[in-house]
Amino acid sequence: MGLRAGDTIAAIATPSGVGGVGIIRVSGPAVRQIAEALIGRLPRPRYATLSTFSAADGSPIDQGLALYFPAPHSYTGEDVLELHGHGGPVVMDLLLHRCLEFGARLARPGEFTERAFLNGKLDLTQAEAVADLIESSTALAARLAARSLQGVFSQHIQALVEGLIELRVHLEATLDFPDEELDLADERAQVADGLSALIAQLDRLLAEAYEGQRIREGLNVAIAGAPNVGKSSLLNALCGSEAAIVTDIPGTTRDLLRFDIQIEGLPIHIIDTAGLRHTQDPVEREGVRRAQEAVQQADLVLWVYDAARGLDEGVCPSLAPRVPLIRVRNKIDLLGESPGIKAEGEEVEVALSVKTGGGLELLKAQIKHQVGLSPHPEGAFSARRRHLDALRRAKGSLLAASEHLAAGQSPELVAEELRAAQQSLGEITGKFSSEDLLDRIFASFCIGK
Ligand code: GDP
Ligand code: ZN
Repeated sequence: MGLRAGDTIAAIATPSGVGGVGIIRVSGPAVRQIAEALIGRLPRPRYATLSTFSAADGSPIDQGLALYFPAPHSYTGEDVLELHGHGGPVVMDLLLHRCLEFGARLARPGEFTERAFLNGKLDLTQAEAVADLIESSTALAARLAARSLQGVFSQHIQALVEGLIELRVHLEATLDFPDEELDLADERAQVADGLSALIAQLDRLLAEAYEGQRIREGLNVAIAGAPNVGKSSLLNALCGSEAAIVTDIPGTTRDLLRFDIQIEGLPIHIIDTAGLRHTQDPVEREGVRRAQEAVQQADLVLWVYDAARGLDEGVCPSLAPRVPLIRVRNKIDLLGESPGIKAEGEEVEVALSVKTGGGLELLKAQIKHQVGLSPHPEGAFSARRRHLDALRRAKGSLLAASEHLAAGQSPELVAEELRAAQQSLGEITGKFSSEDLLDRIFASFCIGK
């Protein structure tokens, strides 16, 4: 997967449009040549040098700061040049084209960070944290991404890998001895203890990573229920706007409406579904199908019913069994009831009136409670679905190892599972990664990063 020697990349690193300052970033071996052509010399390393950037005929294009970071002490690990000019699109374009004349090509999205990864400047979780930090939708998500960028997540993975290696070494040493020289039962007990400790450690990391992933991506909350029970009204109340159309004709909401809100730093994507009911109208039927899909993929479902009509009406026929659910008893104003919350076993019901607003705060508190966000998630780090998948696979391997051990299977089988667990953890930090995965990760970056 090595770098193509001689390949120099350039991009406008600042957002498109007009700004006080615009930055061109160049990385690769042609940096020296480009600096000499544009500003007459290579600037002193790591000093901001006031320079005139000139066109091919020697006339000035712009005046600004030039910064030179010689390899390997740069973001990418290669020679890097930054030209800080005036942030107008024409100036930026002229400067960029000057760089291209001297052997640079346009950088692909994320290519600077990809080079940083390939040159060992960052591991994969840190590279992903760069994108997460740029794209974070809440202050909390940004803080978590910054912690991942500093290597908090990677250190946790590293600690697990070290524990695993220790266990593998221990296990492999026992393979090299004839049985009679070792107390096998004792050896097995030691390995089993080591394994349980690792599984516990992995469980803690999974919980933290899960929280980080939820804070990064937010939660999908679907509002479902029969037509006319007040789903769209509830959505509007939660969004604090007139976002969804509210009418009293059953079946008005035929499409899914999605809105992004925050409940104390947690991004929440609320989906209003068309009334779930059997219908012959093909347009409405499509709405119902999409509603059922949204409900099945949600992290939480708010199942709304009309207090005056009772719970039986329009009971959701195919609610996914494992999606957490809060039942919302709406329109209590019609019956003169007071807002409240009650739990029967797993089932939680909040009685409220969207019309008067009574009970809405109870519902918000219950949403937060239900998704199990810890009170101080600032200690966490950002994580992605692929990290969770890999952590779960690693856990599966460790559990299999411990079953083999308990069943008295050969140590080779146990060792094989430990190796697989290490491989899964290595995928998180990019120690083992396919070119495909890297392409997918870096393609989602912005240009110039
Ligand atoms: P949806 O079809 O489930 O989305 O229901 P809507 O939000 O469109 O509401 C249907 C009707 O119920 C509208 O006329 C709303 O004004 C009314 N409605 C919604 N919530 C309440 C409530 O808490 N109390 C009363 N009395 N009417 C409500
Ligand atoms: Zn509606």
